Amino acid sequence: MSDLIPVFDPATGKRIAEVPDGGRAAVDQAVARAREAFDQGVWRGKLAKERARILWRVADVVERRAEDIIEVECRNNGMARWLARNLVSSAAEIFRYYAGWVNKIHGQSTDILAEGGITGANAVYHAYTLKEPVGVAGLIIPWNGPFYVAMAKLAPALAAGCSCVLKPAEETPLTSLMIPEIMAEAGVPDGVVNVITGYGETTGAALAAHLDVDKIAFTGSTETGRLIVKAATGNLKRITLELGGKSPVLVYDDADLSKAVPGAGLGIFINAGQGCVCGSRLYVQRTIYPQVVEGLASFAKSLKLGGADDPEAQIGPIISQRQLQRVMSFIEDGRTDGAEVVTGGRALDRAGYFFEPTVVTQVRPDMRLFREEIFGPVIAVVPFDDEEEAIAGANDSSYGLAAAVWTRDIGRAHRLAKRLEAGTVWLNTQMAWDVTQPFGGYKQSGWGYEYGWEGLAAYLKTKTVYTDISG
Ligand code: ADP
Repeated sequence: MSDLIPVFDPATGKRIAEVPDGGRAAVDQAVARAREAFDQGVWRGKLAKERARILWRVADVVERRAEDIIEVECRNNGMARWLARNLVSSAAEIFRYYAGWVNKIHGQSTDILAEGGITGANAVYHAYTLKEPVGVAGLIIPWNGPFYVAMAKLAPALAAGCSCVLKPAEETPLTSLMIPEIMAEAGVPDGVVNVITGYGETTGAALAAHLDVDKIAFTGSTETGRLIVKAATGNLKRITLELGGKSPVLVYDDADLSKAVPGAGLGIFINAGQGCVCGSRLYVQRTIYPQVVEGLASFAKSLKLGGADDPEAQIGPIISQRQLQRVMSFIEDGRTDGAEVVTGGRALDRAGYFFEPTVVTQVRPDMRLFREEIFGPVIAVVPFDDEEEAIAGANDSSYGLAAAVWTRDIGRAHRLAKRLEAGTVWLNTQMAWDVTQPFGGYKQSGWGYEYGWEGLAAYLKTKTVYTDISG
């Protein structure tokens, strides 16, 4: 018998379900099913137009069932309803986008005139490449956008022709468990999409190490990303990693502050700061520093916190008691080290794991609060005097996921876009995102890309075929 994992509603702290920790046995079974489906070609062997149609239908089914998915997602993850609605609708759109790619996957051909072929004479080769699905893909995902992240990995994997084993986070398995039914209703054949639940160190680790898994696509912490890399050495499976961030935001004194202040505010407080791209380090030009700190603090105070039953809630709770405690420990350490909490800094005195949107100043670059990913609604604000200082501070991080610049000087904006060490740079906006654009981390924020063509290519391998046509 496998252990059972309790699942909580973070807005109430109540236990709402339990799911098995599948462990190695469940992983073996799911991988075997995925392998069989792949080898038999029940999915990759279908006509491209038929696969495309099925992926499109997945989007339709998601939209038809959206209210149920949103309800379960809000209950399990705690995210505000407006955010769940956006993410479920984006999940459907990702399937439509990749449905469009299915009949556009192709290699290229080249004619080559080579000196000294196998016979010694010059040879003429016709060479072409084939794009083939990598095989069985293990998808390991976090708790901060459970349904959306699952679907954002499944769509390109399925478009490529892979079979999949999905392992949601132990905190948020419930919407992932709805996925097999959605796939079946849309016409994805049995065995192509498999979902297993379990803890990371048991079930996740077994999937990452499995010798019959050809690729792991992982989203989660940098620490766990390292473990995945180690686990993958057995069969040197392919890996893509979307990891943590400590994204810098630069606000210049020529910026439109009516946009920059709420932009930077939502850029961190959205989803209670539980987003890898959240802008957690705010660099503000000294001339406007007091004004921005004050504006940000009043923006933070204006946000309405609440659970799934509160239709007006803008920000939900932190995912778990453990994570809430972790966020609080950053604040305590920061206070001890001399940081000043301008607003927030406390858990709400109510059921559930709510934490006030928090603005911190008097921060030094060596503070834990300033270097490590908190994954909570906490923004640290520091002043800067000139561009070199701002850039040096912004790039002084082991992470490189996203960065933002607020300025009206377009030369400066594009100059900084080049110099910021991040996979995504936002100019006069934050949190902009589109499925057509590649997304990936610099430095220790990731390996490889998701979305767009690059996101699909991550599930394809390339074969080169040479033909001697010398005659
Ligand atoms: P967090 O620490 O915020 O929970 P993680 O990066 O540990 O974030 O979790 C992201 C996903 O990785 C979850 O599905 C989790 O179960 C899984 N996971 C955690 N540890 C491991 C591991 N050693 N091997 C594989 N997956 C893991």
